[in-house]
Amino acid sequence: MLVAKTGVLFYCVTPKPWLQFAVMEKDVDINKVARQHAEMDNFFTGGFAVRDSKAKQKQTEADKAAVAEAAKELEKIADETRQCRKCDLGSLRTNAVPGEGNSKARIVFVGEGPGADEDAQGRPFVGRAGQLLDKVIEACGLKRSDVFICNILKCRPPDNRDPGAEEIISCLPYLQRQIEIIEPEIIVALGAHAARTLLDTNKSIGQLRGQFHEYYAGLGRPPIKLMPTYHTAYLLRNYSQDNRRRVWEDMKKVLTELGLPIPQRGKK
Ligand code: URA
Repeated sequence: MLVAKTGVLFYCVTPKPWLQFAVMEKDVDINKVARQHAEMDNFFTGGFAVRDSKAKQKQTEADKAAVAEAAKELEKIADETRQCRKCDLGSLRTNAVPGEGNSKARIVFVGEGPGADEDAQGRPFVGRAGQLLDKVIEACGLKRSDVFICNILKCRPPDNRDPGAEEIISCLPYLQRQIEIIEPEIIVALGAHAARTLLDTNKSIGQLRGQFHEYYAGLGRPPIKLMPTYHTAYLLRNYSQDNRRRVWEDMKKVLTELGLPIPQRGKK
């Protein structure tokens, strides 16, 4: 059996020979020491693989907790919208439509306000415009449950008229809080009302779409990139090749910004 002194093993590199013999009380199995060295080495190098997977596991658990906490907070807001009487729409609605989806979505889609189908079901974008939005989301290689979908107004304006200024002012805090909780990387504003409200501008959707703008979620928070694009209801009414291509171009920019692949089938 190879035997060495711990002092020799650990101090042989020192230029001070007297130190080499400072600790020589204990006989050691050199193979065992070599193994310990290898283990140390592994700990500081290859061992990271093991430590990394544990760290990832911890991260996933933290992510899950954040998703659950955010979902709880969003549900509180949803309950508030169901009780809300801040404007006249509160007494006209069948159901409030607070929004739905992934509570920590990377993309939040914001429309204008619920239509008849949404008012009847209490869910956003479930009518014809919603079915087209589903197709846009699918063309992006995503599922509806990956994103969060909501509106500027949580209650349906009668006869689907445009949202009134007072209604927007009353309702906007709900959306602002939803965005603060979800912390998306990108907001896609569907149509002029959503884009103008969130960007506080009077520009037309034609001028705004196709490039990223910044949405300010509050003091001390980094701005969120906002991509305005045509509302799917507008697209249904003006279903031209050009308009569809424009929406797809806007969505490709969103996917690129998020580092997501651009599915080929989305080209159609
Ligand atoms: N149009 C919107 O703006 N929102 C909906 O939820 C449905 C249609």
